Amino acid sequence: MKYTFFTPGPSQMYPTVDKHMEYFISEQLGSISHRSKQFEDIYTYTVEGLRELLAIPDDYEIVFVSSGTEAMERIMENTVKKKSFHFVNGSFSKRWYEIAKELGIHAQKEEVEFGKGFVKIPEISHDTELVCITQNETSSGVWTRPDFIYNLQKENDYALIAVDIVSSVPIVNLDYTKLDCVFFSVQKNFGLPAGLGILILSPRAIKKAEYLQKKKTVGSYHTFTSLVSYGKKNQTPDTPNVLDIYLLGKVVEDFLIIGIEKMRKDIMRRAEYIYNFLENHKQHKPFVDKSFRSPTVIVVDVNNVGKIKEKLKEKRIIVGGGYGPLKEKQIRIANFPAVNKHNVKELLHYL
Ligand SMILES: *Cc1c(COP(=O)(O)O)cnc(C)c1O
Repeated sequence: MKYTFFTPGPSQMYPTVDKHMEYFISEQLGSISHRSKQFEDIYTYTVEGLRELLAIPDDYEIVFVSSGTEAMERIMENTVKKKSFHFVNGSFSKRWYEIAKELGIHAQKEEVEFGKGFVKIPEISHDTELVCITQNETSSGVWTRPDFIYNLQKENDYALIAVDIVSSVPIVNLDYTKLDCVFFSVQKNFGLPAGLGILILSPRAIKKAEYLQKKKTVGSYHTFTSLVSYGKKNQTPDTPNVLDIYLLGKVVEDFLIIGIEKMRKDIMRRAEYIYNFLENHKQHKPFVDKSFRSPTVIVVDVNNVGKIKEKLKEKRIIVGGGYGPLKEKQIRIANFPAVNKHNVKELLHYL
């Protein structure tokens, strides 16, 4: 019997992946040149599918890198000369802040305790070039509402805004016209094998990268300008993960057929169902306060992580462990599109 993965990345494969993978193999797509018309068609198909699914403006570029973490580094290299500002509330946002510092950037931060969200917009100095925020902190299950990010942008419109939506896309509904660098990878809600990152860039972000490239090093591999100039030809600078680009295009099409509004509603409703269950549970409790609870990554306080994970595994269910400081006290449940109602019922039954 197969396992059901409720892990927040890598996650349960989306049910149609098998079929798309078979087609990829039977058509020998793993061997085609990334300079061929055949590849350009796959590239265009995936980019245009994503544009429609997420309602990304026509003048924004969508380019491919290797992972979410790579996107963090490329954003810092290509849009910041001196100073950035980071909202830190868990392990992923902290990693982003550390990447900035490792690159020699003068990085400032607003930090709240693990499991907490941001309430007030802090004072951000006017020479800040980029503000970074992790919309869904996968380590703690904290969801930042888009309104907070829009207000942040409005109050600091001299700076570019970068947003990590790795574990919330395509469930989070964003107005991309207010954002400059948005990124995700495919092994979370899209239910694909890991190894592909997607970067969505505003005209403003690309302009900044072009300007900086004349002033300092912006790296050599996957610079914004090389990604964008190859992207205009529906190609990538290097030999990319063609399998993942293909699968992403196909799964995006599957999502478009269901309809993104319906998918978002279904995930929200199911999250409510799971949180309700936890509220009424004798031992397990939701970790995050109501106003910051993520619908896609649900973090649960439990007594005995090892025992619960082991018991669930006997039932062929895999959940995520806790993260960072609360590793031994929490489990994480991914409420992603790849798992169905029946899987969720079963999980709650055994919990
Ligand atoms: C998983 C995750 C990342 C890292 O993505 P990779 O593709 O593994 O590099 C970054 N940010 C968040 C919020 C994540 O959930």
